[in-house]
Amino acid sequence: MRLTVLGCAGGIPTPSNPNTALLLRAADTAVLIDFGHGAMGALQRHLDPEDLDAVVVTHLHADHTADLPALLVQRRYNPVGREERRPLPLHAPDGAIERIGTAYAPTAEARASEDASDVFDHRPLRAGESFRIGPLTFHTHEVEHTVEAFGFRVEDGASTFAFSGDSGPCAGVDALAAGADLLMIEATWETRPGLPPHNHMTGTQAGEAAARAGAGRTLLTHNPTWRDADEVFAEAAAVYGGPLEWARAGETYEVGGGEGEG
Ligand SMILES: [Zn+2]
Ligand SMILES: [Zn+2]
Repeated sequence: MRLTVLGCAGGIPTPSNPNTALLLRAADTAVLIDFGHGAMGALQRHLDPEDLDAVVVTHLHADHTADLPALLVQRRYNPVGREERRPLPLHAPDGAIERIGTAYAPTAEARASEDASDVFDHRPLRAGESFRIGPLTFHTHEVEHTVEAFGFRVEDGASTFAFSGDSGPCAGVDALAAGADLLMIEATWETRPGLPPHNHMTGTQAGEAAARAGAGRTLLTHNPTWRDADEVFAEAAAVYGGPLEWARAGETYEVGGGEGEG
């Protein structure tokens, strides 16, 4: 299993880093996890969008979903391969189709006839349930955020990848992360007084979760440009002793061994 980070910026994309979008591949299977601002362009550096097998969405905030309308356009209007194309499985929270339709269609009249079901086969996420995509088994864990949100533990029989999505520290993050070979965990904030408790993690909270999990290797993610990435990283490194780095857009990571492939 290998993870390509298409984007990992928090809140807004930067000139070189789209918002959250991950490409997870094993054998011939390719799965997107989240698809935030700027992700459609980045995806095309690594994979023909026609070759996707499924999309998985942690939650419906724009920085995790904003480029899904671009994927809709690609798969609805690109004539190449139209005959073989089937609706793409979309494992996403309740309301995902309405969310994409609202972003895509500019008027109430257009939205009334826009359900995106010709492009996406919506399979609502449920906490505690698992689903398979090719050789990958996704375990769905509810996490704590300002809207319904999930994180995932993904297994291919040989290695485990864990992704927190957006979350405060919670039992769901601990469960999905436990013993993961590669943990990608959000670390949005420096520690400050008065932070909301159930929204995002500080560097310290992310590092503590990685330490509790005994993660083999940890990637921090979801750094907004206005936060001090060095301070957040230092907080996490002070409490987690394993290999730690910020996730980098464009990088590919072997899960369970090996270094990034560039
Ligand atoms: Zn969010
Ligand atoms: Zn976010």
